[in-house]
Amino acid sequence: MSGIQETLARLAEIPNVHVSAGERLAAHTRFGIGGPADVYAESSRLECFLEALRLARSSGLDCAVIGGGTNLIVSDAGYRGVVLRFTGGKVEVRSQRVSAEAGAELESLVNAAGSAGLAGLETLAGIPGSVGGAVYGNAGAYGRSISEVVRAVHFFDGVMVRALRNPECEFAYRESVFQRRKDWVILSVEVALEPGDASALRRRSEDIVALRRQKYPPEMRCAGSIFKNLLWRGLPQPTRDLVPPEVVREGKVPAAWFLDQAGSKGLARGDVRVADYHANLIYNAGAGTARDLCALIAEMKRRVNELFGLELEEEVQYLGFEKESEVRSQESGEIR
Ligand SMILES: Cc1cc2nc3c(=O)[nH]c(=O)nc-3n(C[C@H](O)[C@H](O)[C@H](O)COP(=O)(O)OP(=O)(O)OC[C@H]3O[C@@H](n4cnc5c(N)ncnc54)[C@H](O)[C@@H]3O)c2cc1C
Repeated sequence: MSGIQETLARLAEIPNVHVSAGERLAAHTRFGIGGPADVYAESSRLECFLEALRLARSSGLDCAVIGGGTNLIVSDAGYRGVVLRFTGGKVEVRSQRVSAEAGAELESLVNAAGSAGLAGLETLAGIPGSVGGAVYGNAGAYGRSISEVVRAVHFFDGVMVRALRNPECEFAYRESVFQRRKDWVILSVEVALEPGDASALRRRSEDIVALRRQKYPPEMRCAGSIFKNLLWRGLPQPTRDLVPPEVVREGKVPAAWFLDQAGSKGLARGDVRVADYHANLIYNAGAGTARDLCALIAEMKRRVNELFGLELEEEVQYLGFEKESEVRSQESGEIR
């Protein structure tokens, strides 16, 4: 067991590890929101990262791993403990398989596959964040998810590096086993793809990126969709009866449809706002805080619950909140 200062000093001795005290996590989230981490450590070298991870875990301080911060709400108080990030970004194409380190941008993996004439990832073009984050949340778009091509995931289980085959990852819609095993850290992924035409794949990806840019301008400080869509088969019959059939896509009802009915578009608290064209998209218009963000999320959930009796579930992940009740305790305040 060692304190913050000792942990900082010991981490700083590991080669190729960038360590800092009081690092503003806002700088590591696309929302641009979040207070300081007691200790922040990142490395692009696998062995060095693992050494830092082991050391941080043995310090007795709480530890968390982040990726690109594109799906994260970090509390205004920040994180008491050590935040780690693996930035290794190697991507290797071997025949019909592509392996990528967890710190690679998902976009690099999508592009490497497309350029090699390998199909299966092209609809994920333009989803921001890392490969590790994509596996953690089973990222997907336009009817496809990364889980459909994952062959194996290599991860640190707290003691050693192991691999899980696809079925062992327990993938489901925006879910994986890694959400239930917060002590497991994804290090790399191997995907198996089908042959395709490189120029057709590039065109498909470019079209998707162009569509996405209209919805999510690159400068928008957001996390994409805040809430998961709802599985049609999981909805009670009286709710199904209210949903127009044309709204149902790939067996899901967009959370945005319920939110729209509940008057979410344009809601705001402080500088945190719901887009006026997309009821499931919240952005930070300037000086937004996690407090405002949590309050707005709670209000959106409350409205949908009141109107439809449904409990929306966040796709976005929380960091630095003691427990769910702390997220909820930030809810008071005026919503416009
Ligand atoms: C504009 C915009 C559009 C988006 N569109 C989509 C979309 O179409 N589809 C979609 O699925 N998502 C979408 N997202 C959400 C986000 O991009 C994805 O969830 C992305 O995969 C998150 O990756 P990240 O590296 O940023 O993860 P982070 O936000 O850093 O972390 C998310 C979670 O993953 C965990 N995590 C990250 N890396 C690791 C690791 N190596 N090991 C273990 N756990 C890890 C973190 O602990 C955290 O709980 C969008 C986000 C934005 C900002």
